[in-house]
Amino acid sequence: MANRKNLDTGVGAILSQCSPEDQKLHPCSSHLQRGITIWGTGSLLRACYPAGVETLFAPVVKETPADKILQPACVVGAARCEIERFRFALGGIRIPSVTEKPVKTLGKIFDSSLKDSAAIKQTKCDLATWLTTIDKSGLPGKFKAWIYQHGVLPRILWPLLVYEVPITMVEALEKSISHFLRRWLGLPRSLSSIALYGHSTKLQLPFSGLMEEFKVTRTREVMMYRDSTDVRVATAGILVKTGRKWQAQEAITRAEARLRHKMLVGSVARGRAGLGSFPKPRYDQARGKEKRQLVQDEIRVEEEEDRYSRMVGMSKQGAWTRWEHAETRKITWTEMWRAEPLRIKFLIQSVYDVLPSPANLHTWGLADTPECKLCQRRGTLEHILSCCPKALGEGRYRWRHDQVLRSLADATCTAIQHSKTQAAPKQSISLVRSRCHTMYLLCVE
Ligand SMILES: [Zn+2]
Repeated sequence: MANRKNLDTGVGAILSQCSPEDQKLHPCSSHLQRGITIWGTGSLLRACYPAGVETLFAPVVKETPADKILQPACVVGAARCEIERFRFALGGIRIPSVTEKPVKTLGKIFDSSLKDSAAIKQTKCDLATWLTTIDKSGLPGKFKAWIYQHGVLPRILWPLLVYEVPITMVEALEKSISHFLRRWLGLPRSLSSIALYGHSTKLQLPFSGLMEEFKVTRTREVMMYRDSTDVRVATAGILVKTGRKWQAQEAITRAEARLRHKMLVGSVARGRAGLGSFPKPRYDQARGKEKRQLVQDEIRVEEEEDRYSRMVGMSKQGAWTRWEHAETRKITWTEMWRAEPLRIKFLIQSVYDVLPSPANLHTWGLADTPECKLCQRRGTLEHILSCCPKALGEGRYRWRHDQVLRSLADATCTAIQHSKTQAAPKQSISLVRSRCHTMYLLCVE
């Protein structure tokens, strides 16, 4: 035993082969990291080590009480060895120890501490770097948002899956992502992140929230361990740790209870569709991937309900929860590409009442008075867009109204002119319904 002050515990493995000559196991290869703790009897130690290694290590065998993990009949000995002087090489290339260079296997990095804290810190730094790089790229805002959805999000989910990341940290990461998304879309900082990631809102945007994806990923992991076809994996009791605030195992229990309840309730009609128009697989009959998918969908529904309940509590941004006749609108990426950036911005701000109306400017401390400059009444969003009596009297609303009508009339005239040039008219009637007015257009093709 050499200098004891640098001694610590590490990991090691010795590979043995059965010799055809004496039918006994002989070590053929070994791999050690920094320090090694060897368990076994003194005679076993000597038998396991090759002669060269034994002289280098000079293991000291100390008898200790038997550990509970081992069989009661097993005699346990402990030896600690200084292996700084001992290095392995492969084809002349020295193999670094785990203290010098972390090992990456199955997409996960292991360092000498065998903890995830360094990797989690690195993930946080990586995300900050990616977002800042995108922010400084000089691209239009919607391009940046697209890069987040299709580039950053899939990449960040992998480290969140393989390391034990607490949910509070994921919340912090989502907060920084929302900050950048708002900036790229030109939205005010006061806009709730629910407006960005909600799936049941009146205006649905094509972005996915990191929290929701994290929850779905971790629950899928739990179910893959639990329902594994390999009995050893299924019965190993692998715990998926996600902090104290939210636990994947509990979320699955809740989701399964909800699915069983839905099974008892049966099919429910929704909207104008008849009963059974959208058949869904039954939870008790689903197996494997289909079953996992049902639970994951239920996790998403639960997350959405949580968002909705928070939105109901917001008097301004949650006003849409009280709209009865407004249609739900889903913005796709195709629409995002076609739309002018300012139009998307106006659309989102008008739904959540965060436009710079006189009332809002006054609330934000940017204006002295919340009054409308035309009629001196309170200038809320509704007042400015459709309720100002002075603007109505001056024909401002009618002007906007007439512009829409003019566009429709132009389109009608163009269609009529175009139809006159067609040689063989077919007697078919297409009814075109506009959003603002109902007009029926006769097209003779
Ligand atoms: Zn007014």
